[in-house]
Amino acid sequence: MGEPEHIRSTYNDIHNIIRGTSDKIASEFKPDMFIAIGGGGFFPARVLRTFLKDPSTKTNIPIQAIGLSLYESLPGTTVEQLNGEVVRTQWLGPDPGKRLLGRRALIIDEVDDTRKTLQYALSELQKDVEAELQLLPESERDSKRTKFAVFVVHNKLKPKLGKLPPNIPYFAGAEVEDVWLDYPWEVIDIEEHDRLAKEDKERKNITVEEH
Ligand code: 5GP
Repeated sequence: MGEPEHIRSTYNDIHNIIRGTSDKIASEFKPDMFIAIGGGGFFPARVLRTFLKDPSTKTNIPIQAIGLSLYESLPGTTVEQLNGEVVRTQWLGPDPGKRLLGRRALIIDEVDDTRKTLQYALSELQKDVEAELQLLPESERDSKRTKFAVFVVHNKLKPKLGKLPPNIPYFAGAEVEDVWLDYPWEVIDIEEHDRLAKEDKERKNITVEEH
């Protein structure tokens, strides 16, 4: 079996994809908190913050960080295991539910591949919210329940193993085939990465012109 096709994304590619989706997120969801899934969601969250402000205070949107890893990639780990497949490696600080109550939280990752990570992230965050809501009088719970949405830079067009409820707004900066994406923050030699990305683009343009 051959190597899967790789597509190299540059920092500028990603910046422009995020810029292109920011107006839609601002008008359709209006987040007042970002929850970045580490490590791939960190850089996109910071870039998105350049284009969005908190809708009521007009200030910068706070970025919270969580870490989830597919369990197979962490042999021998002692971190908490979730349903045998995904583990929390980092979570919101103490009282996570309190931080979330009443907020409009946008969960951010770089890529939606099998969707397992997004499903676990959302369901775990919702559990924290529900636990916190139990401490409030029933009449206040609905108004304080956190609204969640999801933003990914790339969504791979493929059958998904994880599911997101249909009422959760979902924003993808770009839809891609089921290829492997090489992100700039993963490479050691960024000049070489950018040079190869440029070559790939030129080659693709030539192929398109030939057809
Ligand atoms: P999931 O399969 O749960 O949607 O994605 C799990 C994680 O695998 C992602 O958050 C990302 O870190 C990693 N991943 C999935 N597809 C790719 C890819 O094409 N390139 C890179 N660099 N990481 C990926």
